[in-house]
Amino acid sequence: MPELPEVHTIATDLQRKVRGSTIVDIWTDWPKYFRPQTEAAFRRTIGGRRIISVGRRGKNVIFHLSGGYAMLAHQKMTGHFLVGRWMPKAKYKIQSTKKDVWAGQKWVPDNVSGPLGHDRNRFIRLIFFLKDGRMLALSDLRRFAKVVAGPEDEISNLAGLIGLGPEPIAENFTLKDFKTIIAGKKTKIKPLLLDQSFLSGLGNIYADESLWFARIHPARSAAGLTPAELGRLYRSMRRVLKEAIRLRGSSVDDFRDSSGREGRYQLVRRAYGREGGKCPRCGSTIKRMKIGQRSAHFCPHCQKPK
Ligand SMILES: [Zn+2]
Repeated sequence: MPELPEVHTIATDLQRKVRGSTIVDIWTDWPKYFRPQTEAAFRRTIGGRRIISVGRRGKNVIFHLSGGYAMLAHQKMTGHFLVGRWMPKAKYKIQSTKKDVWAGQKWVPDNVSGPLGHDRNRFIRLIFFLKDGRMLALSDLRRFAKVVAGPEDEISNLAGLIGLGPEPIAENFTLKDFKTIIAGKKTKIKPLLLDQSFLSGLGNIYADESLWFARIHPARSAAGLTPAELGRLYRSMRRVLKEAIRLRGSSVDDFRDSSGREGRYQLVRRAYGREGGKCPRCGSTIKRMKIGQRSAHFCPHCQKPK
């Protein structure tokens, strides 16, 4: 699932590419994206509106639209926004000797040999047609994304936004704030970091990476962490998230940026998804364990259970 650095990458890309563009129409073959809105209501809400700016809150992309409206998009498991031009599949001619990798798809990018033609970018389920001829498209293999639009105050009061914890990379989120929100929390530290009402934006990748940098075992009790460990964890989270933003996120599976290109954090990850590999700090073998329903990756030498 796209986490804070991936959503940040998409939102800043979109701010650069589609700010000022007007949405003239939409197309989808999966109207459930808009629930509880209908496709017709969504189209009426969004049609003709200009994109004033694009930002991020937690793992959500927020589009501020003209007329005091907004659109909230959660890309969920496999969704990512792309900007480009596509044509209906029916117009796309393949050479008869070639296997049609676009079988089952409804849209094909103008440049099939570019990044938008790569296999992770082929699942176009939703398109916003922009006045200048470009398109803002959602590629979403598993169709779990959510998109809602409405008056700005309605959108900002949605449960998915008001329940979010602080942004871990915000300038004004201090170590003191971190100590305040963690005080008295008796759960294990890894699931707590994944809890979006505690902190917003962390998922499995960056929680594992932050705990590795902080040398804290993922199953430790949050309440049992020493002040020194809390300081290390606070600095580790911010360091990892900022490094991942600089590297344009992790493309361990479906995530691609708005041009369809891979992020690069997966090339430098220290613990996440590296079970059986060597710890870059001490050379021990990285282990994986289940905590709750999720897997956690850690170094058993650097991250002691206590
Ligand atoms: Zn180690």
